[in-house]
Amino acid sequence: MKTPRPESLTDTIERLKRQLARERQARHDAEQVAETSTRRLYREQLKLHAISQVATQTHGSMRLRQATQEALKALLKHTVWRYCRVVYKPFDNITPPVRVSALCEGENPLTRPGDSLTASARVWLEKASPLEFRTDERIAHEKRWPENMPRRFLCGIGIGEQCMGAVELFSYLEDDDAAFSQEMVLALVRELSHVYKSERDRQAIERMAWRDVLTGALNRAAFFRDLETITIDTQPLALLYLDLDGFGEINEEHGHEIADRYLFEIARRLESEPLSRSVARLGSDEFVLLLPLIDVAHADMVVRDLLFDLQQPLMLDHFRIEPSFSAGLAVYPDDASDGHALFYAADTALSHAREEGSTSLRRFDAEIAEQLERRKQLALRVRQAVAQREFVAFFQPIVSRDHRIVGAEALLRWQAPDAPGPAEFIPYMEEQGLIREVGRQMLHDVIHTAARWRREHDGFQSISVNVSPLQLREEAFVSHVTHALEKSGLPASCLILEITESLYIRAEKPVLERLARLRAMGVRLALDDFGTGYSALSYLQWMPLDILKIDKSFVIKLAEAHSGRDITIVRAIIQIAQACGLDVTAEGIETAEVAHIMCELGAHCLQGYHFSRPVSEEAMTSLLQSSATPSPPFKASITG
Ligand code: C2E
Ligand code: MG
Ligand code: MG
Repeated sequence: MKTPRPESLTDTIERLKRQLARERQARHDAEQVAETSTRRLYREQLKLHAISQVATQTHGSMRLRQATQEALKALLKHTVWRYCRVVYKPFDNITPPVRVSALCEGENPLTRPGDSLTASARVWLEKASPLEFRTDERIAHEKRWPENMPRRFLCGIGIGEQCMGAVELFSYLEDDDAAFSQEMVLALVRELSHVYKSERDRQAIERMAWRDVLTGALNRAAFFRDLETITIDTQPLALLYLDLDGFGEINEEHGHEIADRYLFEIARRLESEPLSRSVARLGSDEFVLLLPLIDVAHADMVVRDLLFDLQQPLMLDHFRIEPSFSAGLAVYPDDASDGHALFYAADTALSHAREEGSTSLRRFDAEIAEQLERRKQLALRVRQAVAQREFVAFFQPIVSRDHRIVGAEALLRWQAPDAPGPAEFIPYMEEQGLIREVGRQMLHDVIHTAARWRREHDGFQSISVNVSPLQLREEAFVSHVTHALEKSGLPASCLILEITESLYIRAEKPVLERLARLRAMGVRLALDDFGTGYSALSYLQWMPLDILKIDKSFVIKLAEAHSGRDITIVRAIIQIAQACGLDVTAEGIETAEVAHIMCELGAHCLQGYHFSRPVSEEAMTSLLQSSATPSPPFKASITG
């Protein structure tokens, strides 16, 4: 057996060298593997961190904007990009598109890349496809492209086929880790598309709850929610309440589509006012605007400037519309101590502006404040008084041409110390709808009273009762009347319902049907205050009528020295009435002379202070007893 030759020293050295080299290589390889893994891990961590930063924004307010900012910050920090920006498609046709941009620290914002591209942002947006990352191929061809212009990349934001926005990224340097940068963009963009979708859905729900569908302005609920946030710390505010003039005519002349666009444009104009805090549409043609003020003293000036801008003509298709309106202005904290009071102050100022005519502005002032206070007091008192039945009927005799009492008009009176007169509380009751309840009660009571008078006094023929348009719009109105007539035994022909011409009632089908049914029963209808409204003659066309009551404003003047013109008017009214087959009652007869003139002119019945003021039921009963022999003026013990 051969024993192996001992290794020479040189061989040993060579072997050990090879072994060392192998071990070095292995260690180097191991280090390389460790480094790559650590790097990969680190990148994954970066990505995850960035995504989680974006995702947490989903729960805050201003979600989309903040989430995008977070995403862009991460991109600037971990990649070669120096400037990034995002444009999202607008959620609807009202809100502007969300734009977010971010700039690397140290970049000069004035010369930031991409400024020259602002105009083409939309083109980019349209060209982007969801989750597609690409470089801008046009760089080489763009003529206006500066030499030092950075490289540009684009990535579409979206889900499925739908592109919702685009990210633009700019860098000056070659990207030595392009794969990672791209991965990072795609991961973030995927996250942003979720945020966009949830924000879009949230806003859609929000719009349904808090926005006016037509104009996109806030609705009433949203506006009042905003008003409630006004506290002692709130800076001064102007509340402008606008009522567009002639909106009905625009609707009729140009059609609904143009009218709708008109409202839409007005809302946009109000919203584009740089100071405006919230704009709401409250009624069909009513808008309100809250304007924070730097100084209360500037309120009028600021508002006048705004109204001037608002008045500029609008072109809708080929129609030119010049907006005109009435406006009420109230200022916080000068005119009101909280949001609700501010609203009512502006509302009251608006009703004064309306009286002044078109395109007028009225600021809340001491006079309006006093009126508002009275209304508040009235509101409290009227409701209590209705509950406590403080409203009673007074009666004013209606006499024949030979001055015999043939009937009476029931007039509502509020029987309480310092109670306001009918001129004040009746319009308020109309406005609040209280007249329905009070009117129904009154009608019931006076029909019973009249039935008794008719039984006891031969000459008494009819009772006249004023009815409000609100009562006529009630489904049960006819049955109330029928019921009261049947129970009291008063023949229908002894009831005259007076409808005031100055109150606006339209030829609504149900109202007309009710009036026709009443007339068919024998109830007579009188048009009250004839000549005071806007559509006196048109009423005669469509309303079934029996009697015309000439308004007292014409009659009272007949006593004046130069009453020639009034006589002509009254004569013409009587001729119209005769031509329409109507009887005429003249109200407001204050003197024997006027009574005489009215009889000469052909009035059938007379009513006025000359014969008697409105009196209580007992006083009217005694007037009836004594009027068997006519001798005006009648002596009434109690007057109202
Ligand atoms: P109207 O129906 O035209 O009633 C006539 C008004 O003229 C009454 O005012 C009466 O007091 C007043 N008057 C009568 N003769 C003369 C006169 O010779 N000179 C002058 N200057 N005035 C005279 P009143 O009672 O203040 O009522 C005002 C209005 O309130 C009524 O006008 C009527 O429109 C409304 N009203 C009154 N009672 C009721 C009611 O029960 N229901 C409804 N819906 N309205 C009512
Ligand atoms: Mg009347
Ligand atoms: Mg009248």
